[in-house]
This record gives sequence, C-alpha cells and structure tokens, in this order.
Amino acid sequence: MNKNNFKSSSLSILNIAGVEPYNVKSDEKYMNKNQIRHFEIILHAWYNYITNNLNRINLLNKSVNFPDIIDRATQEEEFNLMLHHCNRERKTIINIQKTIKRLEENNFGFCDYCDTEIGIKRLEANPITNLCIDCKTLAELKAKQITKY
Ligand SMILES: [Zn+2]
Repeated sequence: MNKNNFKSSSLSILNIAGVEPYNVKSDEKYMNKNQIRHFEIILHAWYNYITNNLNRINLLNKSVNFPDIIDRATQEEEFNLMLHHCNRERKTIINIQKTIKRLEENNFGFCDYCDTEIGIKRLEANPITNLCIDCKTLAELKAKQITKY
C-alpha cells in the first residue's frame, strides 16, 4: 500500500475547514480583519466537525446491540478507547469555544505568557494554542523536569 494513502487520511484543520493557508502580505498588520475572519472560519468549521463526530458516536452507541458472541474483553477495550477519544474531543471543543471567545474579544493570536505574536503558520497548525513557540518549549521543558522528581 502507498504510504501517502495513510497520510491523506489524517485531515489537517485547514482541510476540515476547506480553506487555503493564509497568504500574508508584507505590509499587512498582524490579526487584521482578514486574518481574524480566516481563523473565525477555521474555528467554527473545526467545532462543527468535532461535534458532528461526537454525535455520530453517540448515535452508534445507542443503536448497536452487541451480540453475545462478541468477546467481552474486546468490546470493553474498544469502548474504553472510544471513551478516551471522546473525552479528548470534548476537551478540544471546550478549548475551541474559549478561543472563539478570545477572537471576539480581540485577544486572539498573542502569547498568554509573553504577549508576543504566536504567528499565522503556528495558529493554522493548532488554532487553540495560546503560547508562542518559545514559551511552549519552555513549558514543556519545565514539565519534564517536574516529572523527574
Ligand atoms: Zn510567549
């Protein structure tokens, strides 16, 4: 099987929203109206995508009657995996909601810690991030040090 087939199956957030990467012009102000609109579209599309997924899983859960033959262990394992997945998706939804609020309050795109610009590319890869790359790296380093003890 072609390796690329695997890659294309994991959709990027831009793919989900059906938008092209933002083309920043050299004289453009960071987080101007066009950029805000760009991320507004992305965040709402992503939000809808995850809620639809969660709804579909809920429906499946209700409609499926597992036959007795199915090994109980497998069933439980799959169920736990799904639960774990759903919990993660729910956390993401909460973060998307928070980020949409930041957007509405003109507070989007700047690092929570040092107030620097997070950057369009980084935000396109992960629109709910609230730290610049430097602060994020530092936070991860600190977290690693803490878990050592
Ligand atoms: Zn920062």
